[in-house]
Amino acid sequence: MLNIVIFGPPGAGKGTHSVRIVEKYKMVHISTGDIFRKEISEQTELGLEVKGILAKGELVPDDLVVKVLVSVLEKNPQANGFVFDGFPRTIVQAEKLDETLNSKNIPVSLVLSLDVKEEELIERLLKRGAETGRSDDNLDVIKQRLDVYRNQTEPLLDYYLKQNKLNTIHGIGKIDDIFAEVCHVIDAQI
Ligand code: AMP
Repeated sequence: MLNIVIFGPPGAGKGTHSVRIVEKYKMVHISTGDIFRKEISEQTELGLEVKGILAKGELVPDDLVVKVLVSVLEKNPQANGFVFDGFPRTIVQAEKLDETLNSKNIPVSLVLSLDVKEEELIERLLKRGAETGRSDDNLDVIKQRLDVYRNQTEPLLDYYLKQNKLNTIHGIGKIDDIFAEVCHVIDAQI
């Protein structure tokens, strides 16, 4: 069983490469951002609770995110492996993920960190906002999300480096070329 954390700032290409990975390696994609957006569009209790947080580009509280994650894991007992996209985003979440997966004897196998410089991220997110209408892809919220990433999420690079699981991938260029590098790292693990 392979469990992959796909890591990087907003706009790095986590979603794009997650979709390709799950298709190629027959894994289950868990995007906490997608889950929250779906809950918001369906106006569920959880959706209403997190709507304002996403709109401001802040992080949903750890206990809530972990609860959502554990419930998705439990709904997929037959999975061949998971791709965690946009999770973990804090040290507390990473520790909870390790605790949960280790207790099931299915630890995180590797972390793929997509490295993209800030100007490129802003450009990509503004383009996505214009194309898709995603409401947190506007300049003010993008800047907030990048601040949150630097302060709360980037420290995870060190967390996974210490566990010897970190693989950094240059995330600029043709998607096919970046994905070839992603596959190269995964294939070396299986
Ligand atoms: P994403 O689609 O991954 O960029 O996530 C969109 C938004 O959902 C983020 O800006 C956060 O508000 C929220 N979110 C997604 N995943 C998490 C997480 N692991 N922890 C806290 N908030 C999250």
